[in-house]
Amino acid sequence: MLIRDTEEDFKKKLYKRLWETSHRILMMKLQCLGAAQEVGRSGFVLDTGSERILMDYGIKVVTGAEGVDQPAFPMAASVKLDGVVVSHAHLDHGGFVPSLYNRGYRGPVHASATTLDLMDLLLKDSLKLAKIKGHGIGYFSKDVSTMYANAFRVAYGQQFEIGNSQVMFYDAGHIPGSGQAVIDTGKGVVVYTGDMKVEKTELLNGLSPVREDVKTLIIESTYGTKEHPNRDETEKHLIKRIREAVNNDGVALVSSFAVGRAQELLLVLEKYGIDVPIYVDGMCRDATAIALRYSEFLRYPQMLQRVFARAKKVTNNQAREKILKKKHPCVIITTSGMLNGGPVAHYLEHLKDDRNSYLAMTGFQAEGSAGKALLETGVYKTEKKEFKLKVPFEKLDFSAHAGRSELVNYIKTLNPERVVCIHGEDTKKFAAALKEEHGFDAVAPAVGDTIDV
Ligand SMILES: [Zn+2]
Ligand SMILES: [Zn+2]
Repeated sequence: MLIRDTEEDFKKKLYKRLWETSHRILMMKLQCLGAAQEVGRSGFVLDTGSERILMDYGIKVVTGAEGVDQPAFPMAASVKLDGVVVSHAHLDHGGFVPSLYNRGYRGPVHASATTLDLMDLLLKDSLKLAKIKGHGIGYFSKDVSTMYANAFRVAYGQQFEIGNSQVMFYDAGHIPGSGQAVIDTGKGVVVYTGDMKVEKTELLNGLSPVREDVKTLIIESTYGTKEHPNRDETEKHLIKRIREAVNNDGVALVSSFAVGRAQELLLVLEKYGIDVPIYVDGMCRDATAIALRYSEFLRYPQMLQRVFARAKKVTNNQAREKILKKKHPCVIITTSGMLNGGPVAHYLEHLKDDRNSYLAMTGFQAEGSAGKALLETGVYKTEKKEFKLKVPFEKLDFSAHAGRSELVNYIKTLNPERVVCIHGEDTKKFAAALKEEHGFDAVAPAVGDTIDV
């Protein structure tokens, strides 16, 4: 027996279908490939309904003897991308982009000129390390070349198109060249902050707030549940410890990330008039030279130029031996930031029993890193070496990420309809606080999730 809908039922069904269709047309999707409820391997696909935009595609640098870097999750072959935007050069954001070209992608990648130059440095270093260690990393140097053949250098505020979307970068204040991607999809503006810092540092001016009406804000949350100590006091503390070491004829060894941090530290040394010899080692050298190429974005370019010109550049073990043999008071800024290897390991071996010297660890020390283990045990251990450190050491917070209140204030300024908290160990907690304390519609997706935005 055929049962006909009543007129009422028919209307209800019709309205429901109409609502679903319009909802589908209006909704956009965000697929999280990495850096969701974790830090590292950022990768997010924004599906606007008419185009798919990949925002960052990085790796999670895994340390320790058997550590193999984890790339952001590969996308299904059916996912056709219309464009890629890279927020900044750090390997957890741009470190896996060449793999797209290895898998046949031939579309554009958009980033600032600074980002593309710094990426070149870091990607080539990754290839070099992979060759030494004898493992593959998902791409080859030819794929890096193909990537550059498809790369567009865009300035802050310069609009470009990906499909029907209008995209623009605003300064993110994190490292030289870092940008927040502002994507006007025609269905609302989506902002992807990448890593960001609101407040000024010695090196950069802090971010430029996005001026558009924001529908969805995808925001990094590295320090979503933590505040930074006062930067001024941290600087003064570092300088005090450096002065103590050099007054005792010791060496002040400063372990640093090459991109951003090393330049910040050089400026701090110059600001406080540290006049003993300064050595710049490892990738810190090349990264500083690239940052100076784009001096218009630096807060004190001439000061950086001056201190970098004065600093002695170290390139090989012979030169390192020479510095240590001289036994003269000096400051050495060197990689690796987490002490996993690089020239810092060489210096530490020589200075390990020297109580008159000093080691400042100026970067984030990830779980599993040699730096983290040293802080917990007092023992320095890598694949090749293991020894106890008698040289005084400590970790200092020179973070280039926004602290909790910087993040919350920025979210309030933009006042988006929806907040997606990513790139943090405690994103769930941060999203819950944004909801409960500030009334935002905030979510913290996990890796593999696809959410409506
Ligand atoms: Zn970063
Ligand atoms: Zn990051």
